[in-house]
Amino acid sequence: MMVYYYFVCQRKLYYFCKNLRMEQDDENVAIGKVLDETAYSHAEKHITVNNQISVDYIEKSRILHEVKKSRSIEEAGIWQLKYYLWYFKQRGVEHLTGKIDYPLLKHTESIALTKEDEAHLLNVMKEINAIQGMKTPPPRKTKKICKKCAYYDLCFI
Ligand code: SF4
Repeated sequence: MMVYYYFVCQRKLYYFCKNLRMEQDDENVAIGKVLDETAYSHAEKHITVNNQISVDYIEKSRILHEVKKSRSIEEAGIWQLKYYLWYFKQRGVEHLTGKIDYPLLKHTESIALTKEDEAHLLNVMKEINAIQGMKTPPPRKTKKICKKCAYYDLCFI
């Protein structure tokens, strides 16, 4: 989740790291939950590994899947999945690939981990650690997603 939030908004990541959880009031999260309960109901879902990552589901052919409702913050979803591939590779599980499923759009995107991605993820992990250690949130950057963000009131009111 931290890698995902890092790419969505670093201020959001900061709030999350400080255990300020407000997602339960957010309508978008509610839609995501309904989608999660109805899409791919045949598959075993939410495989949690070492209490650190939670893969939506894994196909027998070594494909990790993430299910997203829209492509509005697509980059974050892609990096979240690349992080999962990297996490497994660090622990000796190689030759996995990923897919992001958008059931509402009837679209699937294939994701692979490159050497460049691995180097970038190392930097991302360092920056996440730095954000975790901050005493005040990173500066607010107004984004398209702000109005739908669960932390909107904290940032703008
Ligand atoms: S409201 Fe905007 S700036 Fe504030 S945490 Fe959410 S996305 Fe980030």
